[in-house]
Amino acid sequence: MKKVVKFGGSSLSGAEQFKKVKEIIELDKDRRYVVPSAPGKRNSKDSKVTDLLYKAYGEASEDKDFSETFAEIETRYNEIIKGLGLKVSLDDEFRKIRDDFKKKTGEDYAASRGEYLNGILLADYLGYAFVDSKEVIFFKEDGNFDSAKTYEVLHDRLEGIERAVIPGFYGSYPDGSIKTFSRGGSDITGSIVARSVKADVYENWTDVSGFFVADPRIITDPENIEMITYSELRELAYMGASVLHEDAIFPVRREGIPINIRNTNKPEDKGSWIVQSTGQKSKFIITGIAGKKGFCSVNIEKDKMNSEVGFGRRVLQAFEDNEISFEHMPSGIDTMTIIVHQDEFIEKEQRVVSEINRLTHPDSIDIESDLALIAVVGRGMKAAKGTSGRIFSALAHANVNVKMIDQGSSELNIIIGVKNEDFENAIRAIYNIFVLAQL
Ligand code: ASP
Repeated sequence: MKKVVKFGGSSLSGAEQFKKVKEIIELDKDRRYVVPSAPGKRNSKDSKVTDLLYKAYGEASEDKDFSETFAEIETRYNEIIKGLGLKVSLDDEFRKIRDDFKKKTGEDYAASRGEYLNGILLADYLGYAFVDSKEVIFFKEDGNFDSAKTYEVLHDRLEGIERAVIPGFYGSYPDGSIKTFSRGGSDITGSIVARSVKADVYENWTDVSGFFVADPRIITDPENIEMITYSELRELAYMGASVLHEDAIFPVRREGIPINIRNTNKPEDKGSWIVQSTGQKSKFIITGIAGKKGFCSVNIEKDKMNSEVGFGRRVLQAFEDNEISFEHMPSGIDTMTIIVHQDEFIEKEQRVVSEINRLTHPDSIDIESDLALIAVVGRGMKAAKGTSGRIFSALAHANVNVKMIDQGSSELNIIIGVKNEDFENAIRAIYNIFVLAQL
């Protein structure tokens, strides 16, 4: 068995966390390839090293004195070295990075040093080889990830190494300069490494025991999701549930490698499994609930809309011409509703409305703002009868007015639109009926 293990910033925020990480790795000899983030926050008032690096580089690029911010970064690493009793020194590395900052080597280079330095320390502490991601993870000139080159080089490189640390978050352009993924991107590196070595499992260690059925800021102590499919997760992640970087699914999904989200501070918890498909029924009919506020609906009415060929295309043309992507499009015989992000739409609102008028001559266009969308997601809904009925009766009992309903043909999700102010109540009502009532 081969396992790739990624540890997030909070799992490596200081010497005490490093000790937990080492214990976890040594407990299972299959944990052979380790992907670290940069040190994260040790408490709520602390700073992430990545943020300090952005700050220091910002100062350097404006020719300001960045020594104070940089000293804070050095202290973070030196405390880890001291706390673990390591012999290694990063002084030469710090010197080089400071010089590079003065030469303005780039913001991505600056940010990437957090993972780079943490990787050196972790490799030393574990007695694993250190593989600089710059030499094995590649981007094309246009900034897109170069999967073909990466998988080939990374596979060949790791084939000859039994145990290695590969820092997360960055790689290099064809000219050798550094490029990072978007924030939280070490999750993607872990997934890429897992695919390259054809791992049996990609373990992603963080500070929560996996995914919750609903947002803990709305539901106190929600149930955990034991198993979720990639597709279910995509739906939930898109609607705001965040534990894993959205793009981390793609590399492993192709190979069907499962992801196990685990808690470094509670290693005994089984966490959540993300899998390609499963015959295992979820504990509840629904797998998860997520949602977001801040949408608008544009309702268009026209008599005999249903028989007018090309009507829908012309409406969507108005949105496309103004570079607005739409989220959902429920429709009736003579009505069509387009749901869009409010902040994206509002400034172009009048332009879009006049274009719809010009292209389709509707009877009316009515805009409603301050809507929230809630996604109720679950592979179990396909086989269960009356799921939507139960959702709507729960919402009616909670006095929530349903503005829109959209069920995808995959029957994997039901999207419900409500007023922003009803958002929390609606989530509680749905959670109560499907989870609390089933316990
Ligand atoms: N350290 C980077 C960040 O803070 C990447 C990561 O942690 O995944 O975004």
